[in-house]
Amino acid sequence: MSVEPGLSSQLAPGATLSDVAAASADCTRCELAKGRTQVVFGVGRDDADLMFVGEGPGQQEDLQGEPFVGRAGQLLTQLVEGIGLTRAEVYIANVVKCRPPGNRDPLPDEIAACSPWLDRQLELISPRVVVTLGNFATKLLLQTKDGITKLRGREFPYRRAGIDATLVPTFHPAAVLRSGGTALAQARSDFVHVKRVLARVAA
Ligand code: URA
Repeated sequence: MSVEPGLSSQLAPGATLSDVAAASADCTRCELAKGRTQVVFGVGRDDADLMFVGEGPGQQEDLQGEPFVGRAGQLLTQLVEGIGLTRAEVYIANVVKCRPPGNRDPLPDEIAACSPWLDRQLELISPRVVVTLGNFATKLLLQTKDGITKLRGREFPYRRAGIDATLVPTFHPAAVLRSGGTALAQARSDFVHVKRVLARVAA
């Protein structure tokens, strides 16, 4: 295997998730490094059956170093708790680990530069179920142009970085906060579906 510059410690045989997180802390693989307070690698169990993938850190996440800690994060925590799990029992990460300026969407070169970190998270955690939060992460992970309204709550086989998981897209919690009522009911129903999938595949 050819090792890209700056990734050797990340790819070292036997590296644990915390080794990879430590290696990511001084990542300069893309321009987002210049504007960040810190790398927001991910949080949760290193052997979680259920992993969430959002878009990228916002202002609060950049300041606190943890994904989904703002208002949207509080809703995510409630939705997780609503299916009988805690935040500590799942793993939460983003497509890009550094805050894009002004919360703009990550650019293709930033996504490409950051993808080895997500690969290593998927490989080491090896979740059985991956839940993408919102249009951006869903389109990217499923490599589709279909939107979240069409895809939410459905199951897709997901193979990446050696894992063989089931992917279930749902709305981004920030979009649920903006849209309210119906979207919240749909998100809750997607989470109930995720619980059923988990019970089936993570026996
Ligand atoms: N939105 C995201 O996509 N990720 C976060 O961590 C916070 C908000």
